[in-house]
Amino acid sequence: MKDYLVRAIAKEAGIRGLACVTTGLANEIADRHDANPAARAVLAHVLTAGALMGALLKVQQRVAVKLEGNGPLGRAIVEADSYGRVRGYTAVSQPQLDVTIATQKPVQAIGNEGVLTVVKDLRLKELYEGYVPLHGETVGEALTYYLNQSEQIPSVVATGVRLDENGRILVAGGLLLQSMPPDDGRLLHQLADQLQELPPVDALLAEGKTPENILKLAFGEVDYKVLEERPLEFHCTCSRERTEQALISLGRTEIEALLANEGQAVVNCHFCHEEYTFSREDLEVILALIEANEE
Ligand SMILES: [Zn+2]
Repeated sequence: MKDYLVRAIAKEAGIRGLACVTTGLANEIADRHDANPAARAVLAHVLTAGALMGALLKVQQRVAVKLEGNGPLGRAIVEADSYGRVRGYTAVSQPQLDVTIATQKPVQAIGNEGVLTVVKDLRLKELYEGYVPLHGETVGEALTYYLNQSEQIPSVVATGVRLDENGRILVAGGLLLQSMPPDDGRLLHQLADQLQELPPVDALLAEGKTPENILKLAFGEVDYKVLEERPLEFHCTCSRERTEQALISLGRTEIEALLANEGQAVVNCHFCHEEYTFSREDLEVILALIEANEE
């Protein structure tokens, strides 16, 4: 199954629904980070959460979801945009961590104590930022808590990940239901209770259910309409030009030090592990650019 997300709406009831499958992009990103099975599982949960949050945005907006804590994984970050492009990483890619815990209780892998932060670029003057303490055992529970407490929108989120016998992601995906007027949260809570009776998302995906099937199960008796199906994909915004700009912004002293010591600069993107190498000649050009800017 290709990675994609389905958006649906129950207009009269006032519930928005999103469901997605993220198996391919999660494996691709985890491969880039050489993640072990435990890190791979946590990363897949967080990437799925990011894809769902991205789908709540309007055109050209971006979101970052960051989970940080005192556990073996330390930190997981995902960025997503309104076009279904996702990137992310974990602070540690080879943690000493039980794979079952990472798969079923990923928040524990990040920490018993910690913070979930959401930063949104809504194309306004300032970034929107909200945060809550890490809550629950699953990324779905943590994000549900954030949406209800910080954004105060009745919501329920579930993400599911299952690994195969080689420690690769067999299935990853998620579901998000959110209240819109006229629902005041009452119907949403009923649907959330019904979700408890259903098999978890990873079990549904593993038995071949599609995001459309999952939405149908989640909405139950409620009338809804599918609005859109859109692809999801790994995409990193880094480039050689951006990296060069970053080097220029380091300033003359730093570049002179790089030239004197390493004789080159190797810059590694946190998000995708792409490596950008700037030779002595490249650095001399950068130095000349900095000097020209200073005049
Ligand atoms: Zn990158």
